[in-house]
Amino acid sequence: MHMTQIIDGKAISAQIKDELKTKVAAMKAEGTQVTLAVIQVGDDPASSVYVGNKKKACEYIGIKSLAYELPEETPEKELLSLIEELNKKVDVNGILVQLPLPEHIDEDKVIATISPEKDVDGFHPQSVGALCIGQPGFVSCTPAGIIQLLKRSGIEISGKECVVIGRSNIVGKPMALLMLRENATVTVAHSRTKDLKEVAKRADILIVAIGKPKMITKEYVKEGAVVIDVGIHRDENKKLCGDVDYEDVAAVCSWVTPVPGGVGPMTIAMLMNNCVESVGLEAR
Ligand code: NDP
Repeated sequence: MHMTQIIDGKAISAQIKDELKTKVAAMKAEGTQVTLAVIQVGDDPASSVYVGNKKKACEYIGIKSLAYELPEETPEKELLSLIEELNKKVDVNGILVQLPLPEHIDEDKVIATISPEKDVDGFHPQSVGALCIGQPGFVSCTPAGIIQLLKRSGIEISGKECVVIGRSNIVGKPMALLMLRENATVTVAHSRTKDLKEVAKRADILIVAIGKPKMITKEYVKEGAVVIDVGIHRDENKKLCGDVDYEDVAAVCSWVTPVPGGVGPMTIAMLMNNCVESVGLEAR
């Protein structure tokens, strides 16, 4: 009988957070406080929820979070000077600017202003470049979390055929680079890929980050494949769902991440991990 195993992101993220909590307590006992500065510009409700969840995770682990809530109309110059000021502060380890930013602010400029040593989101061009050439640096949290999901579920990556659908800067591209670092044979598919079903069916490990609710059905999945679903949407009944049609795909795959409770909780856990790792790095 076909047995599909569920990759439990909730349990794995809780485990990582508990490991970090122990580490942070030991650091505190030696006089080191981990501090994350969180900047939000404007009051977009979705962003406020994300920022709130990040603050809660900090509190749980014992990381001090400094909240900078700036009004929507904050000039770009002002935001950049705040980041520069935080770059210089030795008692601030990580800096996070919640995206998206208002239209009048250039996101790329903001990301490039954060010191790479404090770039806990891993979006700075230097962090991305370091990942590309295999040097140490912060890794984007969602893809880093997916590697943890695979490893902690005992799924082998080395030598496997991996297909990543999606090539965004925050998920698809860093994901492909990380799988390559883990010695998978990697294919990156996107909106111009021909015969996507055939390409996806080559995968032993299929990672889906396309932003299209329930697009990936069993026609895209090889029997026995591992399926990782990054998408987050609300379906017609307001229920959360992913880019993968879970019920349909679960009938053929060996492992699958649910939505919610799969990739989602890992992103914050890895952000917390990056904050802890940022301690001791000298800013520019
Ligand atoms: P983007 O919209 O930035 O990128 C989507 C990618 O999918 C693009 O590369 C695009 O191709 C590709 N794509 C779109 N349509 C198709 C198609 N029909 N066939 C093949 N490829 C297609 O999205 P993100 O990477 O930022 O996010 C993807 C999903 O993951 C979203 O649902 C988002 O909400 C979710 N997400 C979840 C996170 C979590 O913590 N769980 C974190 C971040 C995102 P092209 O480049 O050619 O346009």
